[in-house]
Amino acid sequence: MSNAVIKRDVNNKFWDEELETMPHAKLEELQLERLKEMIKFAYENAPYYKRSFDEAGVKPEDIKSLDDLAKFPFITKITQRETQGKGSFLGELCAVPEEDVIFISTSSGSTGVPTMSPFTKEDFDEFQNTESRWFWQVGMRPNDRYVHALNFSLYVGGPDVIGAQNLGALCIWGGTLPSERLLFVLKTYQPTVIWTSPSYAWQLGEKAKKAGIDPKTDLNIKKIIVAGELGGSIPATRKAIEDLWGAELYDFYGLSDIFGACAAHCEYHDGLHICEDQIYVETVDIHTGEILPPGETGELVYTTLRKKARPLIRFRTGDIGRIDRTPCKCGRTHGRIYINGRKDDMFIVSAVNVFPSDIEAVIRDLDGITGEYLIRIFEKDLTCKYAVEIEKNSDNPETDEEVANKTSAALKARIGVKPAKVIVHPDGGLGTRSEHKSKRIIDERTLTYNI
Ligand SMILES: [Zn+2]
Repeated sequence: MSNAVIKRDVNNKFWDEELETMPHAKLEELQLERLKEMIKFAYENAPYYKRSFDEAGVKPEDIKSLDDLAKFPFITKITQRETQGKGSFLGELCAVPEEDVIFISTSSGSTGVPTMSPFTKEDFDEFQNTESRWFWQVGMRPNDRYVHALNFSLYVGGPDVIGAQNLGALCIWGGTLPSERLLFVLKTYQPTVIWTSPSYAWQLGEKAKKAGIDPKTDLNIKKIIVAGELGGSIPATRKAIEDLWGAELYDFYGLSDIFGACAAHCEYHDGLHICEDQIYVETVDIHTGEILPPGETGELVYTTLRKKARPLIRFRTGDIGRIDRTPCKCGRTHGRIYINGRKDDMFIVSAVNVFPSDIEAVIRDLDGITGEYLIRIFEKDLTCKYAVEIEKNSDNPETDEEVANKTSAALKARIGVKPAKVIVHPDGGLGTRSEHKSKRIIDERTLTYNI
């Protein structure tokens, strides 16, 4: 079955209408049924869960409602690292023998030792079926030509291309091609959909223009999928990329620990529908771990409901955001998540929580500057401060001081605290235009922050 293209009515906007539009109460019944199975499966098969549930005095039978999950202990990235390779190659969080595993992806390791995420054949098929759902949701159909311009090496987003193939699209495995080569692909094969990171979508469009290719008229890209950074959900960033390409931008959100994409924009671009049939979402207070009501902002905690190779029970993602379960205009009933940023990236200035994504939203919205930026976080007199470096457009007649003052005022208005300094560079002076994820935050703090 998984090798065949799955035929759908191209005019139906849903990939799996029954699942996607299921009344939320019914979806919760499905979640409870799956949660019960998963907790039992994890307890019986993963040495770590057996031990941690026993220590916490909880048993699989304690799950009688979804709320009962709150009795179970959290796991974190540290749990993954500490149990990896322990007892067996795959480690104590894993619940299947190695011979049942057909694929592993790993995290980038940007915040420590990379962690690996194993999949059984069934896990992998469910993964790809979920990815097909997202591609269909953004309007991809069998007559589309799709360029998957994501890293294939170890990265969980690589195999997502199979989800596009399974719905019948013509797929081009772009990977991390040098931009000249990728532009050749876009020009020669005229693909209609591309997936890359938001910063790269911007850079690639600019590079095309410099090479004499107008992305709007010389290329045929109708939809741009982005993930890996928050730009796709920042309205000014989204609009800038859409205007550059003459295409519609859709934001996806994935985790190396689960799927390449776990959530995606629908046609309304208001939050990202998360696959609540696969992932049970809780929001908790970042300090106390206490559960917050839906709609409140906190740390997102995920429990995988189907992934057998390495179940994640109450995994604290480090992502700060909220879930909205009110109905979406598109008719899908799965909750929509809104991500503010990583807990690790958040910093506190004068008691205000500041996310780099908020700063980006302001910078991308201002006229006369390129939209490139660097954020420096530092301490002065034992207090956390931030400075922002930007680039002035070469045709901007304003003085650097005027640009700095304007930017500072806009940041203060939007975020609540103004930067200690705004440094203005000429166009291109920051060197932040990169091929992949751009490093835009320099953290020079030496004190320990307990957030
Ligand atoms: Zn929707």
